[in-house]
Amino acid sequence: MSDQEACGRKDSRMLLKENMQSGGVISDPAAWLRETDLVSHDFPYVAQLIAESYDEWRRLSVPPFAESWDWGVLNFEGKWIESIYNGSNGESSWKMQWAEASGLSLLSREVCTAREQVNGETVMLLTLPVFTRGQGEIFALLGCAMTAEQYDQGGRYTAEAMAMHYQTCFYHRFEHLFVSDLAGVHQHAERESSRRSLLFQIVQRMHDNIDVDAVLTEVIESISAMYPAARLELFMSQDHRSTHPKVKPLPLRWKKDDVRGRAFKEGTLALDFGGESCSHVEIGLPLGGKQGVYGVFHMVMDKPAFTEVDQRFLGMVADTAGTAFENAKLYERSNQLIRELRMSNELTQRLNQSLRLGDIFQYAFEELLEMFAADYCCILHMNEEKGGLEAIACNYHPLRNEMISTGDGIGGKVYSTGEPVILSDYSAAGGPPSRLMDATSSQSMIATPLNVGGEVRGAIILTHREAHYFSYDSFRLLQAMAGHIGLAVGNARLHAEVRYLANRDSLTGLYARHYLDEEIKERQTKDFCGSLIVVDIDQFKLVNDTYGHQKGDKILKQVSEIVKTSIRQGDIAARWGGEELAVYLPQLGVQQAVFVAERIRKRVMGETEPRVTVSCGIAEWSWTDDRVSVESLFYRADMALYEAKNNGRNQVVIDKRTDNAKNPLA
Ligand code: GH3
Ligand code: MG
Ligand code: MG
Repeated sequence: MSDQEACGRKDSRMLLKENMQSGGVISDPAAWLRETDLVSHDFPYVAQLIAESYDEWRRLSVPPFAESWDWGVLNFEGKWIESIYNGSNGESSWKMQWAEASGLSLLSREVCTAREQVNGETVMLLTLPVFTRGQGEIFALLGCAMTAEQYDQGGRYTAEAMAMHYQTCFYHRFEHLFVSDLAGVHQHAERESSRRSLLFQIVQRMHDNIDVDAVLTEVIESISAMYPAARLELFMSQDHRSTHPKVKPLPLRWKKDDVRGRAFKEGTLALDFGGESCSHVEIGLPLGGKQGVYGVFHMVMDKPAFTEVDQRFLGMVADTAGTAFENAKLYERSNQLIRELRMSNELTQRLNQSLRLGDIFQYAFEELLEMFAADYCCILHMNEEKGGLEAIACNYHPLRNEMISTGDGIGGKVYSTGEPVILSDYSAAGGPPSRLMDATSSQSMIATPLNVGGEVRGAIILTHREAHYFSYDSFRLLQAMAGHIGLAVGNARLHAEVRYLANRDSLTGLYARHYLDEEIKERQTKDFCGSLIVVDIDQFKLVNDTYGHQKGDKILKQVSEIVKTSIRQGDIAARWGGEELAVYLPQLGVQQAVFVAERIRKRVMGETEPRVTVSCGIAEWSWTDDRVSVESLFYRADMALYEAKNNGRNQVVIDKRTDNAKNPLA
């Protein structure tokens, strides 16, 4: 906008403002316009307006009989307005004369005339002042040249009338300038206001959403609606994925000066106008809140369509979106934490229901599958006896109870390194192969070591067929859950150990008497029959006296070892008390029990060092007995033992009440 326009407009604006401030409704909206006028300090700036209106006036307003006259226009100082002379006779030869004569007109404020002789013809030169409409100041002069004959025929008055008409033309243009300027301001204000109300709506809608995806959708759609011709994408960093088709993962690397990279790193709007020949502009707009930048909008639009106002507007939209996104994210996060707490609570409650290791793994497996909505879950547990990782719980059945070497696959790697693993795209990852992933066509995996008492004892693996299925939060959650499971496993192991110790005799490693009692009692409720052998070392007091108590202990251990290795799995050998041992043989009759007892007796005699012998008493119970009890079984076996001692020791005796027909010794 040029200076002269700005200057004149200031007055009209003031007028308009005053009009508005006077509080009134404007009864004649154009009245102020008519009162608007030039003042002397505007004069230096209106040359252009004079020129334009003069041009228009010449083209449209000169009557046919005045067409042969020469015309020119001068400024308020009587200086020729050079650029715009466009007389019908080409370059006028009168401009010097007009300029000289204008001085007089300026002084007298009247039309001045001069006579000139050209080629024997008299030419009249006129300078006609043009006044401002309010104060009547001379802001321009018109120069006119006509023949003396024309002058005499009333040309002077025509010229004066034409000069007055020029003033009208000038003011017409002057007003036009105001009106169009005002219209421009109005239009601009309207655009701004519509943008503001749009922004307000966007803000409102965005803050109405507490769902992260909905916020992103809202902002993408709002911008798209505002700039339908622009290309828009949103690049989100790793942990803020969305299902919206315009949301893409943020590239890890970008070219130097990429607007996305700049906007993301600096957290401010970045622009790339390309070269001179480039017709579009690239915009990088960070989506960020108080805690950081989460992603970048990338827009490509035509250069002319992008103004400073757009830049501000987009900046505001992005800021709003950033805060709304952050709020939604925080809300989601707190919900997630509550959910995690609840789930962890449920899991630990479930795990606490049992102290059996098998149950713990089964519960953990079921809970994890549900908690993570995974396709497959596999829990690997170190089995020292078999020397590898056992798939102790797995819903891919071919793998169940399989042994996996600690160096094999992802499970082996997690176990041996003690490091958790997250895989978003298995086929693209190129890491160690996984049987579970291959066999189940899984693409996503989270795996964590199972720590028990500060030691890696296994691994937990969850998989899903979809790529990018597990979030980083899930990965973290699994590790937290593995902590709970590890604790439960530790407790179960500890419990098993305590139970083992409680039921064992520490010197011989055989079961304790109370355990044997309980087991027999239990068996008597289920089985048809069973036999009890009581084994007592002969003359043990003598052994102690001869070799000392320590040696006696050693012999006791030797005899216990012989007993342990002379019976079937499932038979129960216990230390009955002192140097007396007992073996219960479930579902075995007295005949077979005798063979076992004889085997023990013979082995003790042959294998102990120093050599000792044992006496054995055997009793049998059967479901046909009138009264079945542990006490009576022991009593009878003890009686038989007593007899064996009496009969000279180092022998096996069957309880008298046992049917003699069954007695292989009889
Ligand atoms: P027999 O049974 O042949 O009649 O003679 P015995 O000398 O073995 O007599 P008895 O069974 O009554 O004696 C038990 C002896 O066993 C008493 C004790 O000195 C010894 N004894 C019991 N418990 C232990 C033990 O834990 N270690 C050792 N070294 N000796 C034990
Ligand atoms: Mg004895
Ligand atoms: Mg004894």
